[in-house]
Amino acid sequence: MSKKRKKKKGYSKIKVTILGMFFALILSVCIIAGYVLYNVVTYVNGDLVVNLDEYKANQNQTSFIYAKDSNGKNVEIARLHGDEDRVWVDLKDISPYMTKAFIALEDRRFEEHNGVDWIRIGGVIVKPQNIGQGGSTITQQLIKNITNNKDVTIVRKFREILMALNLERHTDKDTIIEAYLNTLYLGNGCYGVKTASEKYFGKDVSDLNCAECAVIASITQFPTKYNPLLNPENNKKRQLDCLKKMLDNGKITKAEYDEACNYHLIFTNSKDYVPDESDEEVKKTIEEETKINSFYVDAVINSVIEDLMDEYGYSKQQATNKIYYGGLKIYASVDLKIQEILEDVYKNRTNFPSIKKDDGTKPQSSMTIMDYKGNVVAIVGKAGAKKQNRELNRATSSWRQPGSTIKPIATYAPGIELNKITFSSKVKDYAIWVNGKLWPHNVDKSLGSNSNVTVQYAIQQSLNTVPTRLIKEEIGIDNSFEFLRDKFHLSRLDEVADRDLSPLATGALTNGTNTLEMAAAYATFGNGGKYYKPHFYSKVTNAQGTETVLTNENDKGEQVISSATSDIICELLQTVKTSYYGDAPNVRKFQIMAKTGTTSSDCDRWFCAGTPYYVASVWLGYDIKEPLNQEVNPCGKIFFTVFDRIHKGLKEKEFPKSDKAVEKRYCTVSGKIAGSGCYSTATGWYKEDNIPEVCTWCSSGSRSEKTTKSGNGDVNSAINEVINNVIPALTTQSSGER
Ligand SMILES: [Zn+2]
Repeated sequence: MSKKRKKKKGYSKIKVTILGMFFALILSVCIIAGYVLYNVVTYVNGDLVVNLDEYKANQNQTSFIYAKDSNGKNVEIARLHGDEDRVWVDLKDISPYMTKAFIALEDRRFEEHNGVDWIRIGGVIVKPQNIGQGGSTITQQLIKNITNNKDVTIVRKFREILMALNLERHTDKDTIIEAYLNTLYLGNGCYGVKTASEKYFGKDVSDLNCAECAVIASITQFPTKYNPLLNPENNKKRQLDCLKKMLDNGKITKAEYDEACNYHLIFTNSKDYVPDESDEEVKKTIEEETKINSFYVDAVINSVIEDLMDEYGYSKQQATNKIYYGGLKIYASVDLKIQEILEDVYKNRTNFPSIKKDDGTKPQSSMTIMDYKGNVVAIVGKAGAKKQNRELNRATSSWRQPGSTIKPIATYAPGIELNKITFSSKVKDYAIWVNGKLWPHNVDKSLGSNSNVTVQYAIQQSLNTVPTRLIKEEIGIDNSFEFLRDKFHLSRLDEVADRDLSPLATGALTNGTNTLEMAAAYATFGNGGKYYKPHFYSKVTNAQGTETVLTNENDKGEQVISSATSDIICELLQTVKTSYYGDAPNVRKFQIMAKTGTTSSDCDRWFCAGTPYYVASVWLGYDIKEPLNQEVNPCGKIFFTVFDRIHKGLKEKEFPKSDKAVEKRYCTVSGKIAGSGCYSTATGWYKEDNIPEVCTWCSSGSRSEKTTKSGNGDVNSAINEVINNVIPALTTQSSGER
């Protein structure tokens, strides 16, 4: 008996516990539900979350580009307004059939619901197979379009519902449908019904009839599948479906329906399409009146578009709209005086070689000038007058092989940085065996002198043999490649094909580079080793200046090579001879680091060079490759013409010097630090932690030792030693690559 009672007692204890837990659960659920409900109600009834008036106003604002004048004051240099392509159109200027078609097809209870169609959501829950039909109202779709949040998650969906409810509490239906019709994507890069009407029918959106409006409304769910130009049959099926729904919902009469179904549609790609000439005329006039922007302004626009896409996840079209309609204030990094000089030189074809192809095509050229903090101060992408806006800018958009200008960034900087070589290391000037043959040839078409030459001499003479040997034997292909990719930020390297001697040692890159990238890479040799991503603007704000949209102002650069390496390469590049490129007395007052470049087929010429003030990269070649056959590198001449004018009247200035690089005399015979017996010496620069030992070869002791060692029969080898080492060292003054 007592046993039984005990058992009963045990049961009730469990019962009480379960009951208690159940009530606690109910209570928690109630509290959570209450909390959520409270927040939902507060959110929906609270302040307007998406203000369509403000959004609309932002769609049509002019953007301005400013630059600093010589007094440091901001002056307007360009005004961006897509007036003739205005995207936003008021509801009264949209064919009334358009609204009817969209409502019938997308959201037939639009006029009645409060932002969310619960009947439809219920339908989706009951029949999940209907989920393809969305369940989203026009209001929800509008929220999705303007917040640009496309993630399909429950949380996102819930938030969208709340925002839709909130929007409907504050905004009338006309404003909502107007915003919707102006922002939805309709294929072929068209945002909004206005651009879509022009794209598909060549007509203004106010002139579209019922049949045509149904075509446009039919595109929206799947802009490619239902694109009337690409897939007219798909679109036709859905258009008829749309018209039927319009009839069923009483939006159109039976007569209107019949007429629309039988209407013969003419798209802009139909053979019977006739463009409206008067409109074309108007467009042309507007185009002619539009000011042609400089290459710099073009570059600012492209750069802001790219950065908006990166930073905010915009599509290209959205980013473009933001620039032309978003009322932005863009502060350009241009130096107006330098840009003017550059354009002036480039406009004048006599500054370029007077050669041409058989068909009369002349060579093209581009140039980028930067300071040492990442500011692009001037850019030009064409030799000759610029004829239109956003014309091909070869400085940023023509990707060509850099030839020998690659050597400092792919061979010598990595070699010095990794302590594989010094300023005066001796390297054999002779081709190596690559795939069963001796390669490469030097500029003089030889396989090399077969003598040991200093790194300084190899740079000055632009030898191909020495970088090839250094990358193969000392630096390593991967190291060289990774310097280009990760430190000097060449963006189009081929991960497979460019990990090879020919691209790395002689610049035969698969996809090439451009003057913008090369100027930014060379800037690291004039600023103590910092890489700055080249930029065309310092910041972008909203119209009121209260909000920073994009900024480059906090860019402190990236230390990609040590300051000592930077200084040593700068010194090495200052030994490159530039006297063939004209007098240029204004710029020759300054230190000049320089490197020429020629591609093996002679289709591209380059010149990368800098003074303590500015660094630049110049390219010249035919758009469609053909050998140039120029004795003197035309890019060198262009550089000196431009830089001489830029440097007129500038104050004395030298390249910065870190205390980690030390100046020493070295022996040109051995490449080591000059000893008391060395008879041929020069000045070199060395990293504190990688100073060569002192030369003992030249002192009589070593020489006699060597002679003794080699013995009588080896007099020839001693003579060879002198021929190989002394003569090249003494001839460092001879002309380099042109
Ligand atoms: Zn010596």
